[in-house]
Amino acid sequence: MGWVIARFLAAALTVATGVFLGFLIGGLAHAALVGMALGGLLGVFGAVFVDSRQGRHLLEWLRGAQGQTAPRDTGYWGELAYRIERAMRLRDSAVRAERERLQQFLSAIDASPNGVMMLDHEGAIEWCNAVAAVHFGLDPVRDRRQRITNLVRAPAFVAYMQAGQFDEAVVFPGPQGGSTLSVLARPYGDGMRLVLTQDITERERNDAMRRDFVANVSHEIRTPLTVLSGFLETMASLPLSEAERQRVLALMQQQTQRMQALVGDLLTLAQLEGSPRPGADRWLPVAPLLRRAQADATALSGGRHQIERSGGDDAELAGSDTELLSAIGNLLNNAVRYTPEGGRIALHWLWREDGSAEVDVSDSGPGIAREHIPRLTERFYRVDGSRSRDTGGTGLGLSIVKHVIQRHGGEIDITSEPGQGSTFRLVFPTFRARRRQVVAEAGLERV
Ligand code: ADP
Repeated sequence: MGWVIARFLAAALTVATGVFLGFLIGGLAHAALVGMALGGLLGVFGAVFVDSRQGRHLLEWLRGAQGQTAPRDTGYWGELAYRIERAMRLRDSAVRAERERLQQFLSAIDASPNGVMMLDHEGAIEWCNAVAAVHFGLDPVRDRRQRITNLVRAPAFVAYMQAGQFDEAVVFPGPQGGSTLSVLARPYGDGMRLVLTQDITERERNDAMRRDFVANVSHEIRTPLTVLSGFLETMASLPLSEAERQRVLALMQQQTQRMQALVGDLLTLAQLEGSPRPGADRWLPVAPLLRRAQADATALSGGRHQIERSGGDDAELAGSDTELLSAIGNLLNNAVRYTPEGGRIALHWLWREDGSAEVDVSDSGPGIAREHIPRLTERFYRVDGSRSRDTGGTGLGLSIVKHVIQRHGGEIDITSEPGQGSTFRLVFPTFRARRRQVVAEAGLERV
């Protein structure tokens, strides 16, 4: 209201000035009335001209890109321009803040380990993060606005999207061979759909491994149990001579030992999986460990093999002595069991150039064909099942060895060729192996 009065007064003042000047000038020519009328008219024109000019400034600024500040005119138009400019700047910064928030939100979704995709009411891609694009084998930019079912043709997925029953996820093979995807859709908004994807290849593989493991264990236990119950039945129903009875009892004992060995190895595996890694600050001298393993192997061989040992007198390992003894023992046990009588077995400690170290168990046994080598450390994987069982093997020995060496930060390396014997290397990293300093004069050993 203030501006209305001010504008009215300004216009009235301009007209009055025109009238007054017209009166003075017209009076000189004895035409005061005409002068007043003309002066008043000129005053009106002047007021309208100034007003229109300021209005045009503002209009031009509004028509443009508003890159510069609004015209700083005085009065009504000046204030109007300032207010409009302020409202526009406020709106711009609100839009910018909103856009930033959206960008942050999208970046957060992009960082998700799972795939996220938004579909419009026709099932066309509105937006998807990089993970969803990888899962579906899409290009997030090129494939935008494309119908998802035109791009992902897996029948289970297409049927799922068409059925519109999104209570549970659908699982199907991913476009990259060998992968398995789990996809869950959720309706939102006006017919839109949010699609969440997850690569469950690893989980499926673990589930399959667990199922196989249970099946294998059951099978391994059932076989000796069947044999045992057969013998028990025989003993209960048939009159046996003393010699026959002794033979049956010996066979029953063999089966019991087999089960005991299996259960023992299973417990060892469970313990290895369920306990924390052995500390890297518990240093053990290597020599007694190797001596003990060699003695056990010699006892098992019963003189059928030549078992030699070298190195390790100057070395220490950081870790668990029972685990390390079990790993080396398993390797020697295999060497003894698979190497024919008269064969050679060697247990060596070696320092490597980079300061790491290895324990090698080599034999002159039958060797192993190349295709089996990568799978030897799998549970229950055997090259020759009957040979393994006949010699008391459980199929778990190398899997225990692998666990132990991995818990010590190292790895197992197997080289073998049929007919050329085998070498199993336990490679320890530098932080788990060190040289032992021996103070000879004092007869003391010092770390
Ligand atoms: P097992 O109890 O059957 O010996 P392991 O896990 O210790 O189970 O070994 C897996 C398989 O690797 C064995 O069944 C055997 O076929 C093969 N193997 C292991 N060590 C040797 C070796 N020194 N010489 C030949 N084959 C071996």
